[in-house]
Parts: sequence; C-alpha cells; structure tokens
Amino acid sequence: MTEKPTYVTHLECGLTGEDDYAPDVIHGLSRAGRPLLVRYDLETMAQDLDRDAIWARGGGFWKWRELLPVRKTRDVVSLGEVDTPLIPLAHVSRDLGAASPVLVKDEGRLPTGSFKARGLALAVSMAKALGVDKLAIPTNGNAGAAMAAYGAAAGMTSYVFCPDDTPEANVREIALQGAKVWRVNGLINDCGKIVGGGKDATGWYDVSTLKEPYRIEGKKTMGLELAAQLGWTLPDAIFYPTGGGTGLIGMWKAFDEMEKLGWIGAKRPKMFAVQAEGCAPIVRAFEAGERHAELWEDAHTYAAGIRVPIAVGDFLILDAVRASGGAAMAVSDDAIEEARRAAGTRDGMLLCPEGAATLAAYQRALAAGQVTPSDRVVLFNCGSGLKYPMPDIAGLLDRHKPIDYQALMNG
Ligand SMILES: *Cc1c(COP(=O)(O)O)cnc(C)c1O
Repeated sequence: MTEKPTYVTHLECGLTGEDDYAPDVIHGLSRAGRPLLVRYDLETMAQDLDRDAIWARGGGFWKWRELLPVRKTRDVVSLGEVDTPLIPLAHVSRDLGAASPVLVKDEGRLPTGSFKARGLALAVSMAKALGVDKLAIPTNGNAGAAMAAYGAAAGMTSYVFCPDDTPEANVREIALQGAKVWRVNGLINDCGKIVGGGKDATGWYDVSTLKEPYRIEGKKTMGLELAAQLGWTLPDAIFYPTGGGTGLIGMWKAFDEMEKLGWIGAKRPKMFAVQAEGCAPIVRAFEAGERHAELWEDAHTYAAGIRVPIAVGDFLILDAVRASGGAAMAVSDDAIEEARRAAGTRDGMLLCPEGAATLAAYQRALAAGQVTPSDRVVLFNCGSGLKYPMPDIAGLLDRHKPIDYQALMNG
C-alpha cells in the first residue's frame, strides 16, 4: 500500500456540534459525554478523489483510505479484508410476496467473522498511530474478537470483558487471538463500567462502542461499499440490527459525505433500526418521540449482539431513523429463530440471530405497508451464523442394523 493523502480537519461533538477537538490526539467522549465525529475537508476531497478509481482498487475497506482518518500506511493494520457480497434471498422473498429478492449484505465474510472487523480495524490502527499499546473493551462477543485479532496483529495487549453467557465460540476465539478475556456476571453495560473504572489504574485505552471516535469511521465503509455495489445508488430501505448503533450511524454519515462529494444524490433509504423485544430501548424511545433512550432493565434475547441496554449514541440513531422516514422495530426471539430457519432452509443462507432479526422485521414492515413489495431492500447479516448455537435436528443411525431408505427419505 502506498501513502495516500488524508483529509481529517478536526473532530466535533455529535450532540452539541462543538468543533474544537484537534485531530491526531487521543480522544474519548466529548465534554458533553457524547460521541465525537471525525470531520474532513470534503471540498478538497471532491476535487481530488474519483469514486470509480477508488472502487476499482478492489480488496476490502482499506481501499477507502482517503475517506478514513489513518494518515500513515505503516499504521494500517490489516488481516485480509474483503468486500462483502449482496446475496439475494430468492425463495424467502418470493414466499413473502416481494417483487424482487431482498438482498443480504453478508458481513460474516470479514476477518473474525463479523462486521466488527471494520470498526475495530480503524480503532486499533488509530490507536497504533497515536502510540497506544493497551486496549480494553466490553463486548457481547464479536467486538472483543475483532479487537483481539487486530490488536494482536498490531502488537498490542488487549483486555476483554464479556457477559458470562456470551456465545462460547466468541469467548474462546478472543483468547486464542491473544487477548486476556473475562466472563463477567452482568450485561455489557456492567462490563463497560469495569473498563471505564480501570482506566487510571491500568492506563488502557477504552475502545467501548462510540466512546472512541474511530469505530464509526470503519463502519462508515459499509455505506460506501453498498453505494458502490449498487452503482452509486442507495436502496429504498435498510434493515439494521441495532445494539450501540455504530453501523447505522456510520452508514448515515457515509451517505452524507458521499452526497457532499458529489458521488450520490440526495435520496436516502428508509433506515429501520431492528431490536429484540427483550431489549428494545431505541424502539421505546422512538415510539415515545424521545431523542434519548433510557436504560432497558433485565435485558434478554438470544441475539447477543443486540443485547445492549443503553447506547451513548442513542440520539444519533434516532435522528437518522426519523430523518430517513424509517422506524425502530422490535421482534421476538421466536420470530428471529423462525426467520433464521427460513433463510437457511429455503435459500441456503445461514444468518446469525441478529441478521435473522432483520429478516423478521422486514416481514413485519412489508405486512404493515412500511415498505412495499417493489422496494429494493438490503438486510444486514452482521456476523457469521456459525458462531452461534444451532438447534440439533440431526437423526441417529445404527450402521449395524438394516437401513430403511424409504423411511430416511420420508423422515
Ligand atoms: C455488534 C453487533 C450488532 C450491533 O451492531 P451496532 O452497530 O453496535 O449496533 C449486530 N449484530 C452483530 C452480529 C454484532 O456483532
């Protein structure tokens, strides 16, 4: 990779708009206790950059270097990223009466099997550029795995705290990717308190969702990639499984930046923030007309990645959803599992539970007329379905007995 010009001018508070945060120094939250957003010299970028030349580079999200904050190539930490495919759910879409198949953007193809690779690659690379050598994170699994992997590749030490019922594959991959990992008897926000509380004693950098400014920039690449894949247009609707909301916020930021660069027009997709009925703080705030979401007590859902009882970027999620004409929707764990089964058995697409939640939500939105059968719809499958427990529905066969093949075929 050769050096590329970079265009970061400053950072600003996502809530107050205060814009006196310098680039190239370590930041956490803004003075208002809210996420910081990275700003670029979009005017110069519009003159310098050619969208098609960048897209033609191939490879994964590091191709967007000039739209990202990492200044020096030596700080780029890479594990072989790819552009993630858009896969049509042909049979399920026909079953639901859609005019053309809904598309699944399968983020499970990224390093460590989830889209957390996008955010954490940026966070770790920026931490490296700023001289950080110890990272800590609260996680429901995938963020910790991505931070551990990119942190190991960068030669850093990682400390990871996850709820004790985090999917087993996650906990073990985190350790095998070089991090120190603890199971904590609480939820992700309890883990977050442990990370925040240890900053002075340990000197580690807090990489919690939206508490450092660069994960959003990584997630932004989903929006850039999606627009390029659709010939520099955007779909009519996007269904996104929403925990901390980094991806939804990041894509919305990408759309805005691309419009200012003259790469796309003003049309935006309806953004649907999908949560589980057992943990739906954003949905509750959306329905109440609030801009901030209160802590959700006793959060539970087997879609671990969206079990996030409180989000520091709540207003950024809600603003985007409202501005887009979309909605925040909650679906039940039963509906999630049913959607997961349908996508797998009908279309050969093994979704993670969070991805399946978007299919369940799409089905509801279609029935309610919030999207039409002819709308072009993209669902986000944010992680590999292989990381999660699956129902055991295999039969048992005794090879010492005669095999009744007719019974096998009918069984
Ligand atoms: C983290 C995660 C989410 C939620 O993503 P946010 O951008 O933090 O809202 C959804 N699905 C999976 C599989 C995840 O790992």
